[in-house]
Amino acid sequence: MTLLCVSIAVDDPAHARVSVGEARLAGADLIELRLDPLLEGHAPEHALTHARGLLEASPLPVIATCRSPREGGETSASDADRLALLRGLIKATSPPRYIDLELSTLESAPDALDQLDLRAHPEAALILSTHEFQGRPADLLRRIERMRAVEEAAVLKIAYTARSARDTLEIADLLAARDRPTIALAMGPFGLASRVLAPKFGGFITFAALHRASATAPAQPTIADLLTLYRAREIDESSPVYGVLGYPVEHSLSPHVHNAAFARLPETHFLAKGVYLPLPVAPEYEPFKATLDALLSHKRLTFRGGSVTIPHKENLLRFAREAGRHVFSIDPLAERAGAANTLHFDASRAQWLVTNTDAPAIAELLSEKIDLERQAKPPHALILGAGGVARAAALACADAAMRVTITNRTPERAVALARDLSALDPPPQHPIETIPWEMRGAASPDILINATSVGMSSGPSPDEAPYEPERLAEGALVLETVYNPLETPLLRAARARGCAIIDGADLFVQQAALQSTLWTGAPASTELFDRIVRERLSERR
Ligand code: NAP
Repeated sequence: MTLLCVSIAVDDPAHARVSVGEARLAGADLIELRLDPLLEGHAPEHALTHARGLLEASPLPVIATCRSPREGGETSASDADRLALLRGLIKATSPPRYIDLELSTLESAPDALDQLDLRAHPEAALILSTHEFQGRPADLLRRIERMRAVEEAAVLKIAYTARSARDTLEIADLLAARDRPTIALAMGPFGLASRVLAPKFGGFITFAALHRASATAPAQPTIADLLTLYRAREIDESSPVYGVLGYPVEHSLSPHVHNAAFARLPETHFLAKGVYLPLPVAPEYEPFKATLDALLSHKRLTFRGGSVTIPHKENLLRFAREAGRHVFSIDPLAERAGAANTLHFDASRAQWLVTNTDAPAIAELLSEKIDLERQAKPPHALILGAGGVARAAALACADAAMRVTITNRTPERAVALARDLSALDPPPQHPIETIPWEMRGAASPDILINATSVGMSSGPSPDEAPYEPERLAEGALVLETVYNPLETPLLRAARARGCAIIDGADLFVQQAALQSTLWTGAPASTELFDRIVRERLSERR
Protein backbone atom coordinates (compact mmCIF):
# COMPACT_ATOMS: atom_id res chain seq x y z
CA MET A 1 0.00 0.00 0.00
CA THR A 2 1.27 3.45 -0.87
CA LEU A 3 1.48 5.76 2.13
CA LEU A 4 0.03 9.27 1.87
CA CYS A 5 2.40 11.80 3.39
CA VAL A 6 1.60 15.45 4.03
CA SER A 7 4.69 17.61 3.78
CA ILE A 8 4.83 20.54 6.21
CA ALA A 9 7.42 23.30 5.96
CA VAL A 10 8.27 24.28 9.53
CA ASP A 11 8.96 27.98 9.83
CA ASP A 12 6.66 28.62 12.80
CA PRO A 13 6.67 25.59 15.17
CA ALA A 14 3.28 26.48 16.73
CA HIS A 15 1.68 26.70 13.31
CA ALA A 16 3.36 23.46 12.25
CA ARG A 17 1.89 21.69 15.29
CA VAL A 18 -1.62 22.73 14.18
CA SER A 19 -0.87 21.58 10.62
CA VAL A 20 0.23 18.15 11.87
CA GLY A 21 -3.14 17.72 13.63
CA GLU A 22 -4.97 18.84 10.48
CA ALA A 23 -2.97 16.39 8.35
CA ARG A 24 -4.05 13.50 10.58
CA LEU A 25 -7.70 14.57 10.37
CA ALA A 26 -7.38 14.91 6.60
CA GLY A 27 -6.37 11.24 6.36
CA ALA A 28 -2.55 11.31 6.07
CA ASP A 29 -0.59 8.17 7.01
CA LEU A 30 2.53 10.07 7.92
CA ILE A 31 3.95 13.56 7.79
CA GLU A 32 7.16 15.03 6.54
CA LEU A 33 8.54 17.84 8.66
CA ARG A 34 10.61 20.06 6.41
CA LEU A 35 12.97 21.50 9.02
CA ASP A 36 15.21 23.56 6.73
CA PRO A 37 13.17 26.81 7.21
CA LEU A 38 13.54 26.33 10.99
CA LEU A 39 17.31 26.30 10.66
CA GLU A 40 17.40 29.51 8.66
CA GLY A 41 18.65 32.41 10.80
CA HIS A 42 18.57 30.30 14.01
CA ALA A 43 21.17 28.34 15.95
CA PRO A 44 20.98 24.56 15.43
CA GLU A 45 20.05 24.16 19.15
CA HIS A 46 16.95 26.34 18.62
CA ALA A 47 15.85 24.22 15.65
CA LEU A 48 16.57 21.00 17.55
CA THR A 49 14.47 22.01 20.57
CA HIS A 50 11.45 22.88 18.42
CA ALA A 51 11.82 19.86 16.15
CA ARG A 52 11.99 17.51 19.16
CA GLY A 53 8.84 19.12 20.54
CA LEU A 54 7.05 18.55 17.22
CA LEU A 55 8.15 14.91 17.11
CA GLU A 56 6.98 14.26 20.67
CA ALA A 57 3.56 15.80 19.93
CA SER A 58 3.05 14.19 16.51
CA PRO A 59 0.17 11.70 16.34
CA LEU A 60 1.60 10.36 13.06
CA PRO A 61 4.95 8.83 12.11
CA VAL A 62 7.37 11.48 10.88
CA ILE A 63 9.90 11.86 8.08
CA ALA A 64 12.47 14.41 9.29
CA THR A 65 13.92 16.32 6.37
CA CYS A 66 16.34 19.21 6.43
CA ARG A 67 16.64 19.82 2.72
CA SER A 68 19.89 21.02 1.25
CA PRO A 69 19.70 24.37 -0.57
CA ARG A 70 21.21 22.54 -3.57
CA GLU A 71 17.95 20.58 -3.81
CA GLY A 72 15.37 23.23 -2.98
CA GLY A 73 15.94 23.62 0.77
CA GLU A 74 15.08 26.95 2.36
CA THR A 75 18.20 27.37 4.45
CA SER A 76 21.73 28.59 4.01
CA ALA A 77 22.90 26.40 6.91
CA SER A 78 25.98 24.26 6.33
CA ASP A 79 25.85 20.51 5.73
CA ALA A 80 27.42 20.10 9.17
CA ASP A 81 24.58 22.03 10.86
CA ARG A 82 21.91 20.10 8.93
CA LEU A 83 23.52 16.78 9.85
CA ALA A 84 23.82 17.89 13.49
CA LEU A 85 20.10 18.64 13.59
CA LEU A 86 19.21 15.23 12.12
CA ARG A 87 21.62 13.44 14.47
CA GLY A 88 20.01 15.23 17.45
CA LEU A 89 16.59 14.00 16.34
CA ILE A 90 17.69 10.41 15.78
CA LYS A 91 18.95 10.30 19.37
CA ALA A 92 15.80 11.92 20.82
CA THR A 93 13.31 9.97 22.93
CA SER A 94 10.72 10.29 20.11
CA PRO A 95 12.83 9.78 16.99
CA PRO A 96 11.45 10.16 13.49
CA ARG A 97 10.40 6.98 11.63
CA TYR A 98 12.55 8.14 8.69
CA ILE A 99 15.22 10.70 8.05
CA ASP A 100 15.74 12.02 4.55
CA LEU A 101 19.25 12.67 3.32
CA GLU A 102 20.25 13.73 -0.19
CA LEU A 103 22.65 11.64 -2.24
CA SER A 104 24.49 14.91 -3.02
CA THR A 105 25.02 15.55 0.71
CA LEU A 106 26.30 12.04 1.21
CA GLU A 107 28.70 12.43 -1.69
CA SER A 108 30.02 15.79 -0.45
CA ALA A 109 30.33 14.54 3.16
CA PRO A 110 31.28 10.85 2.86
CA ASP A 111 31.28 10.40 6.66
CA ALA A 112 27.68 11.67 6.90
CA LEU A 113 26.29 8.23 7.72
CA ASP A 114 28.87 7.74 10.49
CA GLN A 115 27.94 11.17 11.82
CA LEU A 116 24.27 10.22 11.89
CA ASP A 117 25.11 6.94 13.63
CA LEU A 118 22.03 5.26 12.17
CA ARG A 119 23.28 1.74 13.00
CA ALA A 120 22.97 2.50 16.71
CA HIS A 121 19.43 3.84 16.18
CA PRO A 122 17.63 1.41 13.88
CA GLU A 123 14.20 2.88 14.75
CA ALA A 124 14.98 5.75 12.31
CA ALA A 125 15.38 4.46 8.75
CA LEU A 126 17.22 6.30 5.99
CA ILE A 127 15.46 7.70 2.91
CA LEU A 128 18.20 8.50 0.41
CA SER A 129 16.92 11.14 -1.98
CA THR A 130 17.73 13.06 -5.13
CA HIS A 131 15.84 16.05 -6.56
CA GLU A 132 16.24 17.86 -9.87
CA PHE A 133 14.10 20.93 -10.56
CA GLN A 134 15.37 21.69 -14.07
CA GLY A 135 13.99 18.52 -15.65
CA ARG A 136 14.77 14.84 -15.92
CA PRO A 137 18.47 14.60 -15.03
CA ALA A 138 20.67 13.37 -17.87
CA ASP A 139 22.49 11.10 -15.40
CA LEU A 140 19.30 9.73 -13.83
CA LEU A 141 20.14 6.04 -14.20
CA ARG A 142 23.72 6.53 -12.99
CA ARG A 143 22.40 8.42 -9.96
CA ILE A 144 20.08 5.55 -9.15
CA GLU A 145 22.96 3.09 -9.41
CA ARG A 146 24.95 5.18 -6.90
CA MET A 147 21.94 5.30 -4.58
CA ARG A 148 21.52 1.53 -4.78
CA ALA A 149 25.12 1.09 -3.69
CA VAL A 150 24.27 2.68 -0.32
CA GLU A 151 23.24 -0.35 1.73
CA GLU A 152 22.08 1.74 4.70
CA ALA A 153 19.33 3.32 2.56
CA ALA A 154 16.05 1.62 3.49
CA VAL A 155 14.14 3.71 0.94
CA LEU A 156 15.22 5.50 -2.25
CA LYS A 157 13.51 8.74 -3.32
CA ILE A 158 13.81 10.17 -6.84
CA ALA A 159 12.07 13.41 -7.78
CA TYR A 160 12.52 15.49 -10.93
CA THR A 161 10.51 18.04 -12.86
CA ALA A 162 8.65 16.48 -15.79
CA ARG A 163 8.53 18.38 -19.07
CA SER A 164 6.21 15.92 -20.81
CA ALA A 165 3.99 12.89 -20.23
CA ARG A 166 6.93 10.72 -21.27
CA ASP A 167 9.06 12.05 -18.39
CA THR A 168 6.18 11.17 -16.09
CA LEU A 169 5.70 7.67 -17.48
CA GLU A 170 9.40 6.95 -16.90
CA ILE A 171 8.55 7.19 -13.18
CA ALA A 172 6.41 4.05 -13.60
CA ASP A 173 9.35 2.28 -15.23
CA LEU A 174 11.72 3.30 -12.42
CA LEU A 175 9.29 1.94 -9.85
CA ALA A 176 8.90 -1.32 -11.77
CA ALA A 177 12.69 -1.79 -11.59
CA ARG A 178 12.99 -0.97 -7.86
CA ASP A 179 15.24 -3.11 -5.64
CA ARG A 180 13.78 -1.79 -2.35
CA PRO A 181 10.92 0.49 -1.25
CA THR A 182 11.12 3.46 -3.60
CA ILE A 183 9.49 6.85 -3.88
CA ALA A 184 9.56 8.15 -7.46
CA LEU A 185 7.72 11.35 -8.33
CA ALA A 186 7.65 13.84 -11.18
CA MET A 187 7.21 17.47 -10.17
CA GLY A 188 5.32 20.24 -11.98
CA PRO A 189 1.98 20.12 -13.83
CA PHE A 190 3.20 17.40 -16.23
CA GLY A 191 4.10 15.24 -13.25
CA LEU A 192 0.79 15.23 -11.39
CA ALA A 193 -0.08 11.79 -12.79
CA SER A 194 2.97 10.27 -11.08
CA ARG A 195 1.76 11.52 -7.69
CA VAL A 196 -1.81 10.32 -8.14
CA LEU A 197 -0.82 7.00 -9.72
CA ALA A 198 1.85 6.09 -7.12
CA PRO A 199 -0.49 3.36 -5.73
CA LYS A 200 -0.85 1.92 -9.23
CA PHE A 201 2.88 1.76 -9.89
CA GLY A 202 3.96 0.64 -6.41
CA GLY A 203 5.41 3.89 -5.08
CA PHE A 204 6.22 3.58 -1.38
CA ILE A 205 5.00 7.08 -0.49
CA THR A 206 3.24 9.90 -2.35
CA PHE A 207 3.43 13.43 -1.01
CA ALA A 208 0.61 15.94 -0.70
CA ALA A 209 0.13 19.46 0.61
CA LEU A 210 -2.30 20.30 3.37
CA HIS A 211 -3.53 23.34 1.45
CA ARG A 212 -2.75 24.52 -2.06
CA ALA A 213 -0.75 27.48 -0.70
CA SER A 214 1.43 25.29 1.53
CA ALA A 215 2.75 22.97 -1.22
CA THR A 216 6.44 22.12 -0.74
CA ALA A 217 7.02 21.13 -4.39
CA PRO A 218 5.74 22.41 -7.73
CA ALA A 219 2.15 21.24 -8.54
CA GLN A 220 1.94 19.06 -5.43
CA PRO A 221 -1.73 18.09 -5.02
CA THR A 222 -3.56 18.62 -1.73
CA ILE A 223 -4.38 15.64 0.45
CA ALA A 224 -8.07 16.43 -0.10
CA ASP A 225 -7.56 16.21 -3.88
CA LEU A 226 -5.72 12.91 -3.58
CA LEU A 227 -8.33 11.33 -1.34
CA THR A 228 -11.58 12.87 -2.53
CA LEU A 229 -11.10 13.93 -6.14
CA TYR A 230 -8.75 11.15 -7.30
CA ARG A 231 -9.78 8.51 -4.70
CA ALA A 232 -6.15 7.50 -4.10
CA ARG A 233 -7.18 4.75 -1.64
CA GLU A 234 -9.14 2.99 -4.41
CA ILE A 235 -6.35 3.05 -6.97
CA ASP A 236 -4.41 -0.15 -7.49
CA GLU A 237 -2.37 -1.83 -10.18
CA SER A 238 -5.48 -2.65 -12.21
CA SER A 239 -6.96 0.87 -12.23
CA PRO A 240 -7.79 2.03 -15.78
CA VAL A 241 -6.52 5.54 -16.48
CA TYR A 242 -8.40 8.32 -18.29
CA GLY A 243 -7.60 11.98 -18.63
CA VAL A 244 -8.13 15.32 -20.29
CA LEU A 245 -5.47 16.23 -22.85
CA GLY A 246 -5.18 19.93 -23.59
CA TYR A 247 -3.29 23.06 -22.68
CA PRO A 248 -3.79 24.38 -20.12
CA VAL A 249 -5.83 21.80 -18.17
CA GLU A 250 -4.89 22.60 -14.58
CA HIS A 251 -8.29 24.13 -13.88
CA SER A 252 -10.35 21.77 -16.02
CA LEU A 253 -13.70 20.73 -14.60
CA SER A 254 -13.51 17.35 -16.33
CA PRO A 255 -11.62 15.47 -13.56
CA HIS A 256 -14.30 16.55 -11.10
CA VAL A 257 -17.23 15.14 -13.06
CA HIS A 258 -15.61 12.02 -14.51
CA ASN A 259 -14.01 10.84 -11.25
CA ALA A 260 -17.37 11.36 -9.54
CA ALA A 261 -19.01 9.21 -12.22
CA PHE A 262 -16.42 6.42 -11.70
CA ALA A 263 -16.99 6.61 -7.93
CA ARG A 264 -20.70 5.81 -8.38
CA LEU A 265 -20.16 2.64 -10.38
CA PRO A 266 -20.84 -0.71 -8.71
CA GLU A 267 -17.75 -2.42 -7.26
CA THR A 268 -17.78 -5.07 -9.97
CA HIS A 269 -17.73 -2.54 -12.83
CA PHE A 270 -14.42 -2.49 -14.75
CA LEU A 271 -14.18 1.26 -14.16
CA ALA A 272 -15.00 1.28 -10.42
CA LYS A 273 -11.30 1.82 -9.67
CA GLY A 274 -10.82 4.06 -12.69
CA VAL A 275 -9.11 7.41 -12.33
CA TYR A 276 -9.30 10.50 -14.56
CA LEU A 277 -6.40 13.00 -14.59
CA PRO A 278 -5.48 16.36 -16.09
CA LEU A 279 -2.84 15.52 -18.73
CA PRO A 280 -1.28 18.73 -20.05
CA VAL A 281 0.09 18.52 -23.60
CA ALA A 282 2.05 21.44 -25.03
CA PRO A 283 0.42 23.08 -28.08
CA GLU A 284 1.22 21.86 -31.63
CA TYR A 285 0.81 18.44 -33.21
CA GLU A 286 4.24 16.96 -32.39
CA PRO A 287 3.88 17.05 -28.58
CA PHE A 288 0.30 15.77 -28.94
CA LYS A 289 1.39 12.84 -31.09
CA ALA A 290 4.33 12.01 -28.80
CA THR A 291 2.10 12.10 -25.73
CA LEU A 292 -0.66 9.98 -27.21
CA ASP A 293 1.88 7.47 -28.56
CA ALA A 294 3.40 7.22 -25.08
CA LEU A 295 0.03 6.87 -23.31
CA LEU A 296 -1.30 4.27 -25.72
CA SER A 297 1.83 2.10 -25.79
CA HIS A 298 2.70 2.09 -22.07
CA LYS A 299 2.21 -1.47 -20.81
CA ARG A 300 1.35 -0.84 -17.16
CA LEU A 301 -0.59 2.42 -17.56
CA THR A 302 -3.80 0.82 -18.91
CA PHE A 303 -4.83 4.09 -20.52
CA ARG A 304 -8.38 3.55 -21.74
CA GLY A 305 -9.66 6.90 -22.95
CA GLY A 306 -10.03 10.58 -22.41
CA SER A 307 -11.27 13.98 -23.35
CA VAL A 308 -9.35 16.18 -25.75
CA THR A 309 -9.71 19.91 -25.50
CA ILE A 310 -8.22 23.18 -26.78
CA PRO A 311 -5.85 23.26 -28.68
CA HIS A 312 -5.83 19.57 -29.67
CA LYS A 313 -9.31 18.66 -30.98
CA GLU A 314 -8.21 18.74 -34.62
CA ASN A 315 -4.95 17.01 -33.67
CA LEU A 316 -6.88 14.03 -32.30
CA LEU A 317 -8.62 13.56 -35.63
CA ARG A 318 -5.30 13.83 -37.47
CA PHE A 319 -3.67 11.33 -35.10
CA ALA A 320 -6.49 8.83 -35.65
CA ARG A 321 -6.31 9.25 -39.45
CA GLU A 322 -2.53 8.71 -39.43
CA ALA A 323 -2.81 5.65 -37.15
CA GLY A 324 -5.09 3.96 -39.69
CA ARG A 325 -8.38 2.14 -39.63
CA HIS A 326 -7.12 -1.11 -38.15
CA VAL A 327 -6.21 0.74 -34.93
CA PHE A 328 -8.61 3.68 -34.89
CA SER A 329 -12.22 3.94 -35.86
CA ILE A 330 -13.38 7.51 -36.50
CA ASP A 331 -17.02 8.27 -35.82
CA PRO A 332 -18.48 9.86 -39.01
CA LEU A 333 -19.75 12.65 -36.76
CA ALA A 334 -16.18 13.57 -35.82
CA GLU A 335 -15.21 13.53 -39.51
CA ARG A 336 -18.19 15.77 -40.22
CA ALA A 337 -17.27 18.12 -37.36
CA GLY A 338 -13.61 18.24 -38.48
CA ALA A 339 -12.59 17.78 -34.84
CA ALA A 340 -12.82 15.19 -32.09
CA ASN A 341 -12.99 15.61 -28.33
CA THR A 342 -13.36 12.02 -27.11
CA LEU A 343 -11.10 8.99 -27.14
CA HIS A 344 -12.42 5.57 -26.12
CA PHE A 345 -10.94 2.08 -26.10
CA ASP A 346 -13.59 -0.31 -27.32
CA ALA A 347 -12.45 -3.53 -25.60
CA SER A 348 -14.96 -5.71 -27.46
CA ARG A 349 -13.34 -4.78 -30.78
CA ALA A 350 -9.84 -4.09 -29.40
CA GLN A 351 -9.99 -0.81 -31.26
CA TRP A 352 -9.81 2.87 -30.38
CA LEU A 353 -12.75 5.09 -31.22
CA VAL A 354 -12.60 8.84 -31.64
CA THR A 355 -15.76 10.85 -31.62
CA ASN A 356 -17.15 14.31 -30.96
CA THR A 357 -19.65 15.03 -28.20
CA ASP A 358 -19.78 18.84 -28.64
CA ALA A 359 -22.14 18.90 -31.63
CA PRO A 360 -24.54 16.22 -30.25
CA ALA A 361 -24.57 18.02 -26.89
CA ILE A 362 -25.62 21.28 -28.57
CA ALA A 363 -28.22 19.45 -30.66
CA GLU A 364 -29.62 17.75 -27.57
CA LEU A 365 -29.83 20.98 -25.54
CA LEU A 366 -31.53 22.86 -28.38
CA SER A 367 -34.04 20.06 -28.98
CA GLU A 368 -35.00 20.15 -25.30
CA LYS A 369 -36.07 23.80 -25.76
CA ILE A 370 -37.40 23.79 -29.32
CA ASP A 371 -39.75 21.21 -30.76
CA LEU A 372 -38.56 21.25 -34.36
CA GLU A 373 -41.49 19.12 -35.55
CA ARG A 374 -43.95 21.81 -34.50
CA GLN A 375 -42.21 24.76 -36.14
CA ALA A 376 -44.10 26.32 -39.03
CA LYS A 377 -40.77 27.23 -40.64
CA PRO A 378 -37.20 26.20 -39.85
CA PRO A 379 -35.77 28.25 -36.96
CA HIS A 380 -33.01 30.72 -37.78
CA ALA A 381 -29.79 30.32 -35.78
CA LEU A 382 -27.19 33.10 -35.62
CA ILE A 383 -23.75 31.81 -34.60
CA LEU A 384 -21.34 34.37 -33.18
CA GLY A 385 -17.77 33.15 -33.74
CA ALA A 386 -15.97 30.84 -36.14
CA GLY A 387 -13.69 28.79 -33.86
CA GLY A 388 -14.01 25.21 -32.64
CA VAL A 389 -17.22 25.63 -30.64
CA ALA A 390 -18.83 27.73 -33.40
CA ARG A 391 -18.14 24.89 -35.82
CA ALA A 392 -19.83 22.34 -33.54
CA ALA A 393 -22.79 24.70 -33.02
CA ALA A 394 -23.21 25.45 -36.73
CA LEU A 395 -23.02 21.75 -37.56
CA ALA A 396 -25.61 20.84 -34.89
CA CYS A 397 -27.99 23.51 -36.20
CA ALA A 398 -27.45 22.65 -39.87
CA ASP A 399 -27.95 18.93 -39.19
CA ALA A 400 -31.21 19.81 -37.41
CA ALA A 401 -32.32 21.46 -40.69
CA MET A 402 -32.22 24.99 -39.25
CA ARG A 403 -31.30 28.08 -41.23
CA VAL A 404 -27.78 29.04 -40.13
CA THR A 405 -26.00 32.40 -40.30
CA ILE A 406 -22.39 32.77 -39.12
CA THR A 407 -20.74 36.03 -38.15
CA ASN A 408 -17.23 36.53 -36.86
CA ARG A 409 -14.90 39.38 -35.96
CA THR A 410 -12.47 38.06 -38.57
CA PRO A 411 -14.80 37.68 -41.57
CA GLU A 412 -12.56 35.30 -43.55
CA ARG A 413 -12.92 32.67 -40.82
CA ALA A 414 -16.73 32.89 -40.98
CA VAL A 415 -16.64 32.50 -44.76
CA ALA A 416 -14.25 29.54 -44.52
CA LEU A 417 -16.46 27.81 -41.95
CA ALA A 418 -19.59 28.33 -44.06
CA ARG A 419 -17.76 26.97 -47.09
CA ASP A 420 -16.57 23.88 -45.16
CA LEU A 421 -20.05 23.11 -43.87
CA SER A 422 -21.65 23.64 -47.29
CA ALA A 423 -19.23 21.11 -48.80
CA LEU A 424 -20.25 18.32 -46.38
CA ASP A 425 -21.85 15.16 -47.66
CA PRO A 426 -24.81 15.17 -47.22
CA PRO A 427 -24.95 18.97 -47.51
CA PRO A 428 -27.01 21.19 -45.16
CA GLN A 429 -30.69 21.53 -46.12
CA HIS A 430 -30.44 25.34 -46.23
CA PRO A 431 -27.51 27.39 -47.53
CA ILE A 432 -25.15 28.52 -44.75
CA GLU A 433 -25.07 32.34 -44.78
CA THR A 434 -22.48 34.74 -43.41
CA ILE A 435 -22.90 38.38 -42.42
CA PRO A 436 -20.31 41.03 -41.43
CA TRP A 437 -19.64 41.24 -37.69
CA GLU A 438 -20.78 44.89 -37.65
CA MET A 439 -24.16 43.85 -39.10
CA ARG A 440 -24.94 41.14 -36.54
CA GLY A 441 -27.44 43.37 -34.72
CA ALA A 442 -29.58 43.56 -37.85
CA ALA A 443 -30.27 39.83 -37.78
CA SER A 444 -33.11 38.91 -35.48
CA PRO A 445 -32.63 35.17 -35.00
CA ASP A 446 -34.80 32.62 -33.20
CA ILE A 447 -31.66 31.14 -31.69
CA LEU A 448 -28.53 33.12 -30.79
CA ILE A 449 -25.39 31.15 -29.98
CA ASN A 450 -22.39 32.92 -28.51
CA ALA A 451 -19.35 30.87 -29.50
CA THR A 452 -16.85 33.69 -28.97
CA SER A 453 -14.87 34.29 -25.80
CA VAL A 454 -16.52 37.68 -25.29
CA GLY A 455 -17.89 37.76 -21.72
CA MET A 456 -15.37 35.20 -20.41
CA SER A 457 -13.74 36.33 -17.14
CA SER A 458 -10.18 35.71 -18.35
CA GLY A 459 -11.04 36.63 -21.95
CA PRO A 460 -10.55 39.77 -24.02
CA SER A 461 -13.81 41.54 -23.07
CA PRO A 462 -15.13 40.17 -19.76
CA ASP A 463 -17.67 42.96 -19.24
CA GLU A 464 -19.14 43.01 -22.73
CA ALA A 465 -22.00 41.19 -24.43
CA PRO A 466 -21.27 40.21 -28.07
CA TYR A 467 -24.87 41.02 -29.08
CA GLU A 468 -27.57 43.40 -27.82
CA PRO A 469 -30.43 41.16 -26.68
CA GLU A 470 -32.90 44.08 -27.15
CA ARG A 471 -32.71 43.14 -30.79
CA LEU A 472 -33.90 39.58 -30.14
CA ALA A 473 -37.47 38.62 -30.91
CA GLU A 474 -39.66 37.72 -27.96
CA GLY A 475 -39.36 34.02 -27.19
CA ALA A 476 -35.90 33.79 -28.75
CA LEU A 477 -33.45 31.26 -27.30
CA VAL A 478 -29.91 32.21 -26.24
CA LEU A 479 -27.20 29.56 -25.93
CA GLU A 480 -24.08 30.87 -24.20
CA THR A 481 -20.97 28.67 -24.49
CA VAL A 482 -18.88 30.67 -21.98
CA TYR A 483 -19.18 29.16 -18.49
CA ASN A 484 -16.78 31.27 -16.52
CA PRO A 485 -18.63 33.27 -15.26
CA LEU A 486 -21.89 31.34 -15.28
CA GLU A 487 -23.87 34.55 -15.69
CA THR A 488 -22.21 36.45 -18.55
CA PRO A 489 -23.29 39.99 -19.53
CA LEU A 490 -25.12 38.43 -22.52
CA LEU A 491 -27.07 35.99 -20.35
CA ARG A 492 -27.96 38.69 -17.80
CA ALA A 493 -29.41 40.90 -20.52
CA ALA A 494 -31.16 37.98 -22.26
CA ARG A 495 -32.76 36.86 -19.00
CA ALA A 496 -33.99 40.41 -18.36
CA ARG A 497 -35.56 40.37 -21.82
CA GLY A 498 -37.37 37.12 -21.04
CA CYS A 499 -35.44 34.93 -23.48
CA ALA A 500 -35.11 31.18 -22.94
CA ILE A 501 -31.55 30.35 -21.90
CA ILE A 502 -29.00 27.57 -22.13
CA ASP A 503 -25.81 28.44 -20.27
CA GLY A 504 -22.20 27.32 -20.69
CA ALA A 505 -22.44 24.90 -17.76
CA ASP A 506 -25.40 23.15 -19.43
CA LEU A 507 -23.22 22.62 -22.49
CA PHE A 508 -20.21 21.43 -20.51
CA VAL A 509 -22.36 18.97 -18.55
CA GLN A 510 -24.08 17.59 -21.64
CA GLN A 511 -20.89 16.93 -23.62
CA ALA A 512 -19.22 15.38 -20.55
CA ALA A 513 -22.27 13.19 -19.87
CA LEU A 514 -22.11 11.82 -23.42
CA GLN A 515 -18.42 10.97 -22.90
CA SER A 516 -19.09 9.31 -19.56
CA THR A 517 -21.90 7.21 -21.00
CA LEU A 518 -19.60 6.02 -23.78
CA TRP A 519 -16.80 5.06 -21.38
CA THR A 520 -18.84 3.48 -18.60
CA GLY A 521 -21.65 2.00 -20.68
CA ALA A 522 -24.06 3.38 -18.08
CA PRO A 523 -26.16 6.53 -18.41
CA ALA A 524 -24.39 9.47 -16.75
CA SER A 525 -26.20 11.47 -14.09
CA THR A 526 -26.51 14.95 -15.59
CA GLU A 527 -27.95 16.12 -12.23
CA LEU A 528 -24.72 15.05 -10.46
CA PHE A 529 -22.51 16.60 -13.15
CA ASP A 530 -24.55 19.81 -13.09
CA ARG A 531 -24.29 20.13 -9.30
CA ILE A 532 -20.51 19.52 -9.34
CA VAL A 533 -19.88 21.98 -12.19
CA ARG A 534 -21.99 24.76 -10.69
CA GLU A 535 -20.41 24.28 -7.26
CA ARG A 536 -16.90 24.41 -8.66
CA LEU A 537 -17.67 27.47 -10.79
CA SER A 538 -19.29 29.36 -7.92
CA GLU A 539 -16.17 28.65 -5.76
CA ARG A 540 -14.04 30.31 -8.46
CA ARG A 541 -15.93 33.60 -8.33
P1 NAP B 1 -11.55 29.61 -30.52
O1 NAP B 1 -11.47 28.52 -31.53
O2 NAP B 1 -10.31 30.25 -30.04
O3 NAP B 1 -12.51 30.77 -31.10
C1 NAP B 1 -12.69 31.96 -30.40
C2 NAP B 1 -13.73 32.80 -31.12
O4 NAP B 1 -13.95 33.98 -30.33
C3 NAP B 1 -13.27 33.26 -32.50
O5 NAP B 1 -14.38 33.26 -33.35
C4 NAP B 1 -12.78 34.68 -32.21
O6 NAP B 1 -12.85 35.53 -33.32
C5 NAP B 1 -13.79 35.13 -31.19
N1 NAP B 1 -13.34 36.27 -30.39
C6 NAP B 1 -12.32 36.29 -29.50
N2 NAP B 1 -12.21 37.53 -28.97
C7 NAP B 1 -13.17 38.29 -29.53
C8 NAP B 1 -13.57 39.65 -29.40
N3 NAP B 1 -12.94 40.47 -28.55
N4 NAP B 1 -14.60 40.10 -30.13
C9 NAP B 1 -15.24 39.27 -30.98
N5 NAP B 1 -14.92 37.99 -31.17
C10 NAP B 1 -13.89 37.49 -30.45
O7 NAP B 1 -12.31 29.11 -29.20
P2 NAP B 1 -13.44 27.99 -29.03
O8 NAP B 1 -12.78 26.73 -28.67
O9 NAP B 1 -14.35 28.01 -30.21
O10 NAP B 1 -14.19 28.53 -27.74
C11 NAP B 1 -15.08 29.64 -27.82
C12 NAP B 1 -15.78 29.84 -26.49
O11 NAP B 1 -16.47 28.65 -26.12
C13 NAP B 1 -14.80 30.12 -25.35
O12 NAP B 1 -15.26 31.21 -24.63
C14 NAP B 1 -14.85 28.89 -24.47
O13 NAP B 1 -14.77 29.22 -23.10
C15 NAP B 1 -16.22 28.34 -24.76
N6 NAP B 1 -16.24 26.87 -24.60
C16 NAP B 1 -17.25 26.32 -23.88
C17 NAP B 1 -17.33 24.97 -23.73
C18 NAP B 1 -18.42 24.37 -22.90
O14 NAP B 1 -18.43 23.15 -22.70
N7 NAP B 1 -19.35 25.17 -22.41
C19 NAP B 1 -16.38 24.12 -24.33
C20 NAP B 1 -15.37 24.71 -25.09
C21 NAP B 1 -15.31 26.09 -25.21
P3 NAP B 1 -11.61 35.70 -34.34
O15 NAP B 1 -11.74 34.56 -35.30
O16 NAP B 1 -11.81 37.02 -34.94
O17 NAP B 1 -10.37 35.61 -33.50
